[in-house]
Amino acid sequence: MTRKQLLISTALIALVALVLILVPDQPKASYYADKGQVFGTYYAIQYESTADLHDSIRAAFAAFDASMSMFNPSSTLSRINAGVDSVADAYFIAMYRTAEDVHLRSGGAFDITVAPLVNLWGFGLKNRAHVEPAQVEQLLPHVGMNKVRLHVTGDGLQVSGYVEKTDPYVQLDAGAIAKGQSCDVIAALLARNGCENYLVDIGGEVVAKGCNAQGNPWRIGITRPVDDATGELSEVQSVLKTTDIALATSGNYRNFYYDGVEKRSHTIDPRTGYPVQHGLLSATVRSSSCMRADALATACMVLGEEGAIKMIEADSVSACYLILAEQVDDSTTMKVVCSSRWKEE
Ligand code: AMP
Ligand code: MG
Repeated sequence: MTRKQLLISTALIALVALVLILVPDQPKASYYADKGQVFGTYYAIQYESTADLHDSIRAAFAAFDASMSMFNPSSTLSRINAGVDSVADAYFIAMYRTAEDVHLRSGGAFDITVAPLVNLWGFGLKNRAHVEPAQVEQLLPHVGMNKVRLHVTGDGLQVSGYVEKTDPYVQLDAGAIAKGQSCDVIAALLARNGCENYLVDIGGEVVAKGCNAQGNPWRIGITRPVDDATGELSEVQSVLKTTDIALATSGNYRNFYYDGVEKRSHTIDPRTGYPVQHGLLSATVRSSSCMRADALATACMVLGEEGAIKMIEADSVSACYLILAEQVDDSTTMKVVCSSRWKEE
C-alpha cells in the first residue's frame, strides 16, 4: 500500500467513525394503547409506532366530529339538516357516496334520510314517547334518498360539494355509517404515520392491520347478542384471529326499549316507518372499508336473514356473520348463518 493509499484509508475509517458517533440511534418502535371515550362510545386503539400519536388521534376525532356529529350543532351534518348551509366537506361526501351505494344494494332498506323516524321513535335527538301510526304516516313522505342530491366537483384533496334537498323537511342521520368511517379515518392516520401494525376499535367497529405485540394475528371478538340496555354485558360468541380486515356489527340487543310488550329497536325500516322486528339479533359484516361494513351491517338488520344473505352474496368484497334467534320447542336458542365468503381470508 502506497503512502497515499494509506492516508486515504485512514481518512475513510475516521470518517466512518465520525458518522457513527454523530448519527443518533434510530428511535425504537413499540406498541401503544390509546383508550377513551368518543362519539358517545368507547375507543380502543393499539398500534406499533416510533412515537405516541395520541394528540394526532384526538385531533382527527375532533375534525371528524366537526363534520359528522349530529349532536354538535355547528357540524357539517347539523348545518345541512338545519338548512343553514348546504356545503359538504370531504368526510360528508365519502359518507354520502357509500350511503347511496348501500341504499341501492339494499333496495332502500338502508337510508340516511331516516332521521325524522329515528327521532320519532326516540333514538335520535328527541326523547322516546308512545308513537301513534298517524305520526309515522305524517313523516314517511319526507323520508327517501330521492329527495336529496349531492353535487360534487373535483376529487381527492380538492373535492368539494353541496347538498340539494328537494324536500326541506328531509333530515340526514349518519349514525349507521359514521362510526365505521371514523375507524377508517384513524387507520389512515396511523398508516400515514408509518404504522404497519394496528387495531382500531371504535364502539365495536374494527379495522385491523398487521400483527399484535406478540407477532400474532389480532383477536377480534364477536359479541353474543344478549338483550342488555346497559351495554355492560359483553359475552363473546366467537373470536376471530385475523388481520387486514374492516369489520362492523349491528344489533338490536343494546339500543332498544319496550312500549308495553312491543320491543322498539333503533333499526328503523324506512319503507314502513317502524322499528324492525325479526329473528336477526346481530349482523357482523366484513367489507372493503369499515364505513361500508357499518352501512351494510345496518342494512342486514333491516332486511333480515334472507335479504341480508342475498345482498352480501351479490357484493364481491363483503361477507357476513349473522346471529339469529331460533325457536326450538319452548326455548329460544341462537343460530349462526354465514355468507359463503365469510370463511375465506
Ligand atoms: P348501527 O348501530 O350502525 O346499525 O346504526 C344504528 C343507527 O342508524 C340508529 O341509531 C339510527 O340512528 C340509524 N338508522 C336506523 N335505521 C336506519 C336505516 N334503515 N338506514 C340508515 N340508518 C338507520
Ligand atoms: Mg351500521
